[in-house]
Amino acid sequence: MFTCMTHSPAETAQLAELVGKKIHEGTVLCLVGDLGAGKTLFVQSLARTLGVEGEVTSPTFNLMNIYEGICPIYHFDLYRLETEEELEDIGFYEYTDEPEGIVVIEWPDKFPDSLPEDYVEVHIERIPGDETGRQITVSSIGEEYEPFVKELEKLVYLSH
Ligand code: ADP
Ligand code: MG
Repeated sequence: MFTCMTHSPAETAQLAELVGKKIHEGTVLCLVGDLGAGKTLFVQSLARTLGVEGEVTSPTFNLMNIYEGICPIYHFDLYRLETEEELEDIGFYEYTDEPEGIVVIEWPDKFPDSLPEDYVEVHIERIPGDETGRQITVSSIGEEYEPFVKELEKLVYLSH
């Protein structure tokens, strides 16, 4: 687990770019953070880095967007979902059980019991009194992504 600070949207985008350089197919990445924290901005930069050219927007209303980059990217937003049954209806588990491409999930904390055993968590927190400051914590939940998070930490450290 490691934590870093960003001071602008561009800096958060840069961090997402580093994630995009290291991430591989089969990864589930969960983005925790309040409304306006920067989750969607993070996904936008990640998707660009993975070669997505079209629009990348918050799937708040359609619940999931699929982008074609160097691999498929499945972008979920669970904000508007209310029951676990709805998750099943949108095929959530089919994507997260054995992910083919890269799965990114906004508001994963709404359904803590429905998340896979292993995933990468990116927690974006506002800093009181600092409109464009964010504290970002990246951690591996389960063991699978521990090496990924360690590698990423090195890359982030070297890029400073
Ligand atoms: P979320 O998806 O978490 O609700 P968005 O990514 O849609 O949030 O919006 C984040 C907003 O916060 C954007 O308007 C962005 O420009 C702004 N912002 C300001 N500072 C930062 C920062 N350091 N990192 C990310 N976003 C920031
Ligand atoms: Mg969003």
